[in-house]
Amino acid sequence: MAIRINPTLIDELNSFGAEDVQLCYHCGDCSAVCQHSGEIFNFPRKSMRRLQMGLEQKIETTFEPWLCYYCGQCSTQCPREADPGESMMSLRRWLISRYDFTGIARQFFRSKLVEVLSIIGVAILTGLFLVIYGFSGGNLQIYDGEGAFLPSTFIHKFDLLIGSVMAIFLLINAIRMWYFTMIKGVDFNIPWWYWLKNIFTLPLHFFTQKRYAECESKNKSGIFMPWLIHLGLMLGYAIMLVLVMVYIEELQYGPDIIWKVHIFGYLASIGLIIGTVYFIRNRLIKSKYVQYKKSHDTDWVFVCLLFLIVLTGIAQHILHRTGIPYWANIIYVIHLMCVVPWLLRMPFSKWAHLVYRPLAMYFAAVYTDAKEKQEVISGSYAISVK
Ligand code: SF4
Ligand code: SF4
Repeated sequence: MAIRINPTLIDELNSFGAEDVQLCYHCGDCSAVCQHSGEIFNFPRKSMRRLQMGLEQKIETTFEPWLCYYCGQCSTQCPREADPGESMMSLRRWLISRYDFTGIARQFFRSKLVEVLSIIGVAILTGLFLVIYGFSGGNLQIYDGEGAFLPSTFIHKFDLLIGSVMAIFLLINAIRMWYFTMIKGVDFNIPWWYWLKNIFTLPLHFFTQKRYAECESKNKSGIFMPWLIHLGLMLGYAIMLVLVMVYIEELQYGPDIIWKVHIFGYLASIGLIIGTVYFIRNRLIKSKYVQYKKSHDTDWVFVCLLFLIVLTGIAQHILHRTGIPYWANIIYVIHLMCVVPWLLRMPFSKWAHLVYRPLAMYFAAVYTDAKEKQEVISGSYAISVK
């Protein structure tokens, strides 16, 4: 089979954040130090090599960049300061753009202007729609129940519509990821029962991100801080997503608090506020953790928009509970103006990690089993993805 070479790949990756790939001279120190590199999945040196050679198809059909959790050990170790950890991160951005059939992700990653203008555009349209709807039959002085400016039943339908659009895009992109990595990228048979046997890896990695914690143990940092904060942030917005899509009517009810629902909202808010403040702070001061020394524009958009969502969400909750419906409604409109672009950009942004990474862990477990069975390689495997 002919190998497709893209001589401009390395320049292209530059716009996704990888600036120093050319400096690599393939000593292999990075792969040696990487906790997750092994015989089957060997990185990041191999990825650096493929990037330098422009092996676009090879990179597109591997899920190795998703097996990296950006602990930064390899970048710290690199004698050439080629920053392989950032290159792996940039490859994940690039892969998101390849899985995305619309081409929107590519525009977002390559142009700050396009991303910011599209967010502002969607936010303005959302605000206009909500204000027109609110004044058409509601009262700004009423937050919940009859005559409410934005009745929770209407918001529930609105959320479900936005969530469905997002889910459809994400599903199509996830199928493309599967096709690229497990069909185009695999040249041996994978028995169907391996898919069943390893299905548990999906929830396991989604809910624990245990490989990130394994990176931390290598750092001997004791408290596993980036992993813990990252997990809190991820679980926070996963819980919020469920609350918004399923329990929005209970969430907006009031001023009484429905503890069996609101307690999850409070816990999720704590995780989100700590996580966003932590990441913004670390990116601003370029903290001791190497993964925060460089920030792509999309990293800033991701964390700042999330911070705004959490702040406005908390504000409208307090205003509603303390009996100030007029301002609660205004802040609620602003909150939704942040939430809608945030939700709609999920399949085209860093947030897609939420889906692609556990999927990659699942694919890697299936792949490893099939590879072992085929006895294509010999010896013991240094990597475990289960
Ligand atoms: S990225 Fe750095 S450590 Fe890794 S192979 Fe290249 S020069 Fe060596
Ligand atoms: S950042 Fe960490 S997990 Fe990723 S390739 Fe480097 S050492 Fe491995």
